[in-house]
Amino acid sequence: MIIDREPEQSAHARMGGRPLLLIVDDQPSNIQVLFSIFKDDYDVCMALSGEATFTFLEQRLPDLILLDVVMPEVSGFDVCRRLKGSERTADIPVIFVTANSDPEEEARGLVAGAVDFIVKPFHATVVKARVNTQLTVKRQADQLRAMAMVDGLTGVANRRRFDAVLEIEWRRAAREGGELAVIMIDVDFFKRYNDRFGHLEGDNCLRQVAGALQQRLTRSPDLLARYGGEEFVCVLPATGLNGALILSNELEQRVRALGLPHPDSEAAAVVTVSIGAAAGRPSEGGSAAALLANADTQLYCAKQNGRARVCGQNFSAQGQHGDPVDAAAN
Ligand code: GH3
Ligand code: MG
Ligand code: MG
Repeated sequence: MIIDREPEQSAHARMGGRPLLLIVDDQPSNIQVLFSIFKDDYDVCMALSGEATFTFLEQRLPDLILLDVVMPEVSGFDVCRRLKGSERTADIPVIFVTANSDPEEEARGLVAGAVDFIVKPFHATVVKARVNTQLTVKRQADQLRAMAMVDGLTGVANRRRFDAVLEIEWRRAAREGGELAVIMIDVDFFKRYNDRFGHLEGDNCLRQVAGALQQRLTRSPDLLARYGGEEFVCVLPATGLNGALILSNELEQRVRALGLPHPDSEAAAVVTVSIGAAAGRPSEGGSAAALLANADTQLYCAKQNGRARVCGQNFSAQGQHGDPVDAAAN
């Protein structure tokens, strides 16, 4: 499964555009036959060798590959094995198209990771139907993968996605010597909100809070996730403590500006959040968990100092040190 900053997807998977087929064959005349079958329904690209296939895949990921078995230099079987061995391309369905009807060949193709094996000469309608079936399966799998990363209540990223992205961004920042910030956001006196208005209204409140936070997080590498319960968390690549504090204060104000009445809160008359921010330069040996622990410590600090405010610190590996900054929003 691919879990990256923006999970890489074809246009088809991402926005319901036309599926993209890649036809790989060393004989242009074979490509021409398949091209004429599919050109009206799909976007079709072609490659004349295994190497050309991998060059193509560096730029774009197709929804399905129709792959010739016998090619000079790299065989179709080898191409397929290499695709399946790489996390980035393993989910692309491969269908072999070959003149060899030997069942042993078919078995080899399926063992190499193909989803189907079509023998020439073929009937256009049959090839179309088999490709269509595999594209449907692929689309459903893509949708499931996307859903597995989203929080069902609020629609923002879930904890699983957050954990994966935090790891990736930690490693990236360590490699590049860049900064990384994490902020933790917790709704104030939320238990009392539920107690007064009921759990359904509580859910509705969480949805609105998530919406207000998400609206502000438009920079593409930034990620907002629901960490659990009434807690949210942000990963902010290439961001230092100052930037994280500015953003945190804006987020605090946005939630306050929703104006959701909360008569039982001791922090304000409306729903508010407390925010803890931590930022620093990740090191190769260090751990993202320590940065998160720093943010959590700062969230605790914000709660202790009266809630409805922001605290932050520069990252320290011990998790408790650094210079806390009480950056109250009001
Ligand atoms: P504090 O200001 O210290 O954060 O107090 P709090 O009441 O917000 O914190 P506490 O951890 O005591 O309570 C959190 C509450 O959040 C309790 C729990 O019922 C509620 N909660 C957690 N998840 C959900 C949810 O999905 N929906 C609703 N409606 N409530 C939730
Ligand atoms: Mg709370
Ligand atoms: Mg909490």
